[in-house]
Amino acid sequence: MSNDITYQVLDIVRGTTVDGPGFRTAIYLAGCRHRCPGCHNPQSWDFDAGETMTLDEIMAIVEEEDFDVTLTGGDPLYHPETTAALAEAIFKTGHTVWLYTGFTIEEILASPRLSLPLKFVDTVVDGPFVESLRDPDLLFRGSSNQRILKQCIIHNA
Ligand code: SF4
Repeated sequence: MSNDITYQVLDIVRGTTVDGPGFRTAIYLAGCRHRCPGCHNPQSWDFDAGETMTLDEIMAIVEEEDFDVTLTGGDPLYHPETTAALAEAIFKTGHTVWLYTGFTIEEILASPRLSLPLKFVDTVVDGPFVESLRDPDLLFRGSSNQRILKQCIIHNA
């Protein structure tokens, strides 16, 4: 771990049940340029929003809570290098990582940079929020274009 790597953290929600299966620690990372109309949290678009935290500080909370983890935002893939470092540190604790992103899995797999966190991620929920496809009955997704992609599916995409 390292105190040299820092993150702009909008929020860390302990014990949430809405961002993936079971009780989870959800880490909201600032910054997003997708600008989806109807975005649930436009304040999250600002890359300087929230509080600056080191990798060690975030991991102290992850380890204290001892839950699986969801990385969301904002869009964590606007910082693929630091998100990969965080996902790797979580992976090494034995907890699974869900990653929410406005990029599609096709866009991610086409980009070595966007793909950096993938090997430490159990599940990707992909794609932008599309207001016309919004469905409040969907589990863990906002609109029906978004997909819940397990690791085995990602690597066969
Ligand atoms: S990807 Fe998510 S955070 Fe970014 S604009 Fe779309 S809904 Fe909002």
